Amino acid sequence: MKHFVVPTLKSRLVSVALSLAVSAFAFALWSSGALVLIGGMFLLSGDAAPAIAPQWWVAALLIGAAGACAGFLVEIVGARRTSLLLACALALMCAASYLASYFLNIDIAFAPAALATLGAFLAVQAWRLWIVDVALSGSVRRVASRSSALEGREARARMQSGLRLLATVLPLDEAVVCCLDEDGRPTPAAYMRPDAGGAATAASNRNTAWREGIRLCERAIRSGQMVVQPQTQATGNDSDAHAHRDDAHTTTSVVVPLRHEGRAVGALLIRLRGGFDETDRPLLANVAAQLARDLQRDEARAHSVGAPSETFYSVRAAERRLESFGMLSGLLTEQRFAAHALSESHDGHAVAYLDGTIAYVNAPMREAARMAEGDCDTLDLFGLLDRFRAGVFDEPSIAVRRVLQSGSAYECELPFSERGQTLSLRIALVTDAGEDGSPAARPLCLAVTVRDVTEMKEYEKLKSDMVSLMSHELRTPITSINGFAELLATDDTLPESAREFLGIIHSESQRLVRMINTFLSVTKLEQKDRQEVLKIPLMLSDVVRETVLCMQPVAKRKRIRLVGSDGSGKLPPVAADRALVTQAVMNIVDNAIRYSPERTTVTLTTALESEAVRVTVEDCGYGIPPDAVDRVWEKFYRVVRDGQDKEEDSAGLGLSFVREVVEQHGGRVGLESEVGRGSKFSFTLPRL
Ligand code: ADP
Repeated sequence: MKHFVVPTLKSRLVSVALSLAVSAFAFALWSSGALVLIGGMFLLSGDAAPAIAPQWWVAALLIGAAGACAGFLVEIVGARRTSLLLACALALMCAASYLASYFLNIDIAFAPAALATLGAFLAVQAWRLWIVDVALSGSVRRVASRSSALEGREARARMQSGLRLLATVLPLDEAVVCCLDEDGRPTPAAYMRPDAGGAATAASNRNTAWREGIRLCERAIRSGQMVVQPQTQATGNDSDAHAHRDDAHTTTSVVVPLRHEGRAVGALLIRLRGGFDETDRPLLANVAAQLARDLQRDEARAHSVGAPSETFYSVRAAERRLESFGMLSGLLTEQRFAAHALSESHDGHAVAYLDGTIAYVNAPMREAARMAEGDCDTLDLFGLLDRFRAGVFDEPSIAVRRVLQSGSAYECELPFSERGQTLSLRIALVTDAGEDGSPAARPLCLAVTVRDVTEMKEYEKLKSDMVSLMSHELRTPITSINGFAELLATDDTLPESAREFLGIIHSESQRLVRMINTFLSVTKLEQKDRQEVLKIPLMLSDVVRETVLCMQPVAKRKRIRLVGSDGSGKLPPVAADRALVTQAVMNIVDNAIRYSPERTTVTLTTALESEAVRVTVEDCGYGIPPDAVDRVWEKFYRVVRDGQDKEEDSAGLGLSFVREVVEQHGGRVGLESEVGRGSKFSFTLPRL
């Protein structure tokens, strides 16, 4: 058997010392003649003369050897096996004593030797128990103090909160949680009086009521049953004698015994205004179960487990250890709440230990995996995941391996065409913050979540189909409007004002086309999988040069200096779709020009970072307020600026397109901005 407490040299020496001490005691008894009577029982005298006692040093050696052997054996092989050996040894020694005294007329000092043997056996065994007990108390203490992190709030605060909950749902006059004092009498541990500010109750009345309450508590604790006692109570000030009759009202005292782990720990006493509604019985029983746990925990915390050595001889200290176990079992119950709460979820949840055993499966998961309730006992993690083999999820072991290796969750969508269902599956490694607040996370278990996304998928498809259809349908008539407006504008016979209006129609319809195009490209990009984006080696410095050239006329029109600087010499290529990335850079530069005042500079730079190439567009424009910095990437988001004309040509789509493109390529977007000073838009793309 595994020994939890490894014997040390010190413990061995103590065992030997104890054995010798017991032997010395036995020797002293023998030499003082106290053992003559008992010793005589193990002697047979063949002739009339009494058996000859051994010399003192022989006896001392014999007794010492017997005690030391017994103690040493207990220490080395344990009490159970030693007891058998000792029984045989003592029987042999007893026989030897009879034979020696009968035939040789010699006393071999069996009685003191046997006493030393038994004494050493008990003393060393007690010492070993002591060591284990000290270790046990230490562990209980440590676990109990470590478990405080699992409690949520302090037990007393939780009791108070429980009473507040009762006061919110019931018409309460007062509520008291009583614990049991040393003599088992109920004593208040938490108290609440919702309308404490109301009419003061006469002190004498309160005392009577309190005594009555204690009596009811004792009755409830004795019987283990809820006690309901209606009573008529008078309130008011003693000096205000007239008021007595008017203030009289009926209250009902209800006492619920609080039991934890089959043991009475206290009582909950509430005074209700009016009568007791029997349908509230389960409500009170439910809250009382939690209050009992809180109360027991409060008690256990109030009494420390005591010094580890104390528990061995002090019943009270040992009982405190028991209290700590009660508290731990209460915590275990509460720890299961989270798993039980998952049974209320519509999604399928399963928890698997890291040895693959299934710890918990909720009903929706059983349904999704098409398994009966009993199947959970026989299935392991892979047995469960096998039931979801579909599409790309054809090898669950690879997914689990990846999760265990990387610690990041695995997610995929499972199309079950025969069921007409699409499920989204997620396998995640659940970790805990490291012990003692160290940042290292300890892996705990695997959480498998399955969600039915059939309807969501259908809606999504419908939405994108409608968007595409609408955009296409809109484009055709706009193109006609645009064409005809342009054509008509060239007709010199038309009056000047008409031609001016036609110009407006033309430019506005063009703006509409641009907006529709951007919207379509964002939608199309969103529907794409990362793998679908065409990725070929691309030099971002080329893209920057091309953009600067292309946007120069636009910048010039606004007297803005547009410069591209290739900061760090030769850059590695990235794998990207040239058209998409160029469009993204153009969008950022277009914004920089649009949202900057005249005679400022817009600078484009490229730089190499550890594993990526960064493109930065810096302007000295209006800037973006801090609360909008994260939102500018959202679709249709436009910054509202004071004292500025509404930007007519803005749909809030340009930057969402940029982010979509960058993320599709595995990059990240970034923005630093200060109102009135300018903005620095940038993105990275992984280098090749
Ligand atoms: P839009 O296509 O309408 O410009 P974007 O998505 O490109 O939409 O930009 C969203 C908002 O972010 C714009 O309304 C604009 O107010 C703000 N913005 C974008 N770039 C800049 C910039 N360089 N300086 C200041 N504001 C900017």
